[in-house]
Amino acid sequence: MPFRIVLGDITKQNVDAIVNAANSSLLGGGGVDGAIHRAAGPRLLEECRGLNGCRTGEAKVTLGYDLPCKYVIHTVGPIWQGGRSGEENLLRLAYRNSLARAAEKECESVAFPLISAGVYGYPKESALKIAEEEIRHFLDDHEMEITLVIFSKDSFRMDMDLCSKLSHLLRNTYETDEKRGSFLGNVMKSIAFGGAAGSRDSVFTERKAKEKTRGKADAPAESRACETEIEELCDEAAAEEVHVRNFLAGQSAECMTSQPAFAASMMQMQPTSLEAALANLDESFSQSLLRLIDAKGMKDSECYKKANVDRKLFSKIRSDVHYRPSKQTVLAFAVALELDVAETEALLKKAGFALSHASKFDIIVEYFISNKQYDLYTINEALFAFDQNLLGA
Ligand code: ADP
Repeated sequence: MPFRIVLGDITKQNVDAIVNAANSSLLGGGGVDGAIHRAAGPRLLEECRGLNGCRTGEAKVTLGYDLPCKYVIHTVGPIWQGGRSGEENLLRLAYRNSLARAAEKECESVAFPLISAGVYGYPKESALKIAEEEIRHFLDDHEMEITLVIFSKDSFRMDMDLCSKLSHLLRNTYETDEKRGSFLGNVMKSIAFGGAAGSRDSVFTERKAKEKTRGKADAPAESRACETEIEELCDEAAAEEVHVRNFLAGQSAECMTSQPAFAASMMQMQPTSLEAALANLDESFSQSLLRLIDAKGMKDSECYKKANVDRKLFSKIRSDVHYRPSKQTVLAFAVALELDVAETEALLKKAGFALSHASKFDIIVEYFISNKQYDLYTINEALFAFDQNLLGA
């Protein structure tokens, strides 16, 4: 995945180079700088002494010593002074120069902290946006794996408005569906194992048992309130049960009417025709993807870059007609191709997946697709904020 955001400690990243948000003396300090010097050992400070400091926005390279990385790229971000002292430009330069040093050293992977977003006080949401914009711009014409390491969720800020919209959506879709699913599941079980009265009785017995364990069965007022609550629950259960029964009756009626047609089609399928059926597969994921790229008038590179998919992986997909992608990869391409929800579902189906409201990941991605918001970096920020896998591969 060319760009990813991870939660963690930059000194533990297995990459070619890590970037240090240093101060201009380059002689060590607090925050990420201190952590890097501690993990690299005293030889890092020795080498830094010979560098004669570093101006804000510039970047200098040392070895990584005891760190798992080969190089440390030291850069100095601006101190936030209210935004009118060229801070944005200096922060962009810090990223640009660090990436230029990484390219000069032929690094294939590099990890960044959120430069200036700690003691230097740069507003966290803007610091994240600038980091992403500079990284994305660099990736337009370079191949590298770039990781943005977020030390703690406190140091990560995304658009508050979007965040609250998504929280609301997840509460209303994911949690409601989940509760409804388990409630329906219980009603189904009661129908399967206990008949109509089962739900009412089992809810009642369960509640009574709970009351007993709490030792409150002899509290009359509370008990009355509890029974009213149970009555309400039972009515809800009964209504749900009628709904489920009607649904099941409809299903079996449908099944009965469609059975002759199904049997007829099975009859037509002679044993030898199974081979023929298998030889006549639908268009594969890989074929669909390539067709869609052409239909949208996109270049392959434009599409896989927009999808945050590595070039090598894309050539694999291109050359293997039966390539089985992950769900994140399929959705990344759906976003890059700006498909609508129905087209996304169709592409997912080609790889054996579907969108589900039992998955936070799916709900978040579907939200962006149905609102025609196809900025993959923003989607990944939201996925990261809600602890989900990111789009891309
Ligand atoms: P600056 O002086 O540039 O603001 P800081 O070190 O104070 O630098 O903070 C920069 C960012 O690095 C902050 O978001 C902080 O949370 C983060 N940070 C601190 N320690 C680590 C670490 N070990 N790994 C990754 N990020 C870190």
